[in-house]
Amino acid sequence: MATVWNIGKHCRELWHQVDNSTKKVEAPVIRKGYLSPNFSLQELTKSQTATRLGIDNTPTEKQKDALKALCLHVLEPCRNNFGRSFTPSSGYRSKELCKAIGSKVSSQHAKGQAADFEIAGIANRELAEWIRDNLDFDQLILEFYNPEDPSSGWVHVSYRADAPYVNRKECLTYNGKRYSKGLTVE
Ligand SMILES: [Zn+2]
Repeated sequence: MATVWNIGKHCRELWHQVDNSTKKVEAPVIRKGYLSPNFSLQELTKSQTATRLGIDNTPTEKQKDALKALCLHVLEPCRNNFGRSFTPSSGYRSKELCKAIGSKVSSQHAKGQAADFEIAGIANRELAEWIRDNLDFDQLILEFYNPEDPSSGWVHVSYRADAPYVNRKECLTYNGKRYSKGLTVE
């Protein structure tokens, strides 16, 4: 089953094809409360700020579908490739939560299309470069990364499954002041 996660974009279709062939492979079981085999809805919606301020951070069904696509096409392949489990530091953010933390309400986080994460023991630059070279995504941003401290910063990735929209595969680096094109670290 593990190799299926590396296929990315067409994994659903692939399962379908495999199901119809002589090599019957079961689609992965998504447990109750989960968006994908290893990522729960709670992990992608939990926010300390929301809890503290009593902000409702429950996504709609459409936003939940966007989160599922993000988990299947980005988070699961990262977990599989690096062989380590992780929980995103931020996934879905309701508009109210965006306002509370000073994030734009137009952010892809508010649509359930983006997550910020890092994987313990993996330099965020290495993680970002692997995503750039191996996955389909809309926008990838290496944020607050300092090459002298490989664990500094985090990676922001968005994915859109609303065809006919085509994911841009845009790569940016953000140092806290400005964005630069590509994964460039000064
Ligand atoms: Zn983000």
